[in-house]
Amino acid sequence: MSKRVLIVDDAAFMRIKLKDILEKNGYEVAGEAQNGNEAVEKFKEVKPDIVTMDITMPEKDGVEALTEIKAIDKDAIVLMCSAMGQQTMVMDAIRAGATDFIVKPFDTERVIKALDKAIR
Ligand SMILES: [Mg+2]
Repeated sequence: MSKRVLIVDDAAFMRIKLKDILEKNGYEVAGEAQNGNEAVEKFKEVKPDIVTMDITMPEKDGVEALTEIKAIDKDAIVLMCSAMGQQTMVMDAIRAGATDFIVKPFDTERVIKALDKAIR
C-alpha cells in the first residue's frame, strides 16, 4: 500500500510541485495545509505516514507545528522543507525532532530519496 503524505506549505506552487513528485513516485497525498495551524488539524484528521513541513509560513511556522505534532505523536515522521539562509530554524527543527530535511527548490530524486529513507 502506498504511503500517505501530508503536504504543508504556504506557497500553492510548492504544494503542486511536491504533489506531482509524490504521486508520480508511488506516494499518496493524504492532505494539504497552508500554515502551521492547518497542519496540526490535518495531522490529527488524516493521520499521515509522513509530513513534509515548510519552515516559514504565516500564523504558525513549521517549527511550531512540528513541535505540536511531535507532542501528539512522538513517532511522527516530519521532513522539513528548508531554503538557503534558514540555518537557525533548521537547528530549531532538529531540536524539535525533525526526521530529515528536504532542500528547496525541490528535486525529484532528492525528495524521493529522503522520503524512502524516512519510512524505512
Ligand atoms: Mg513558506
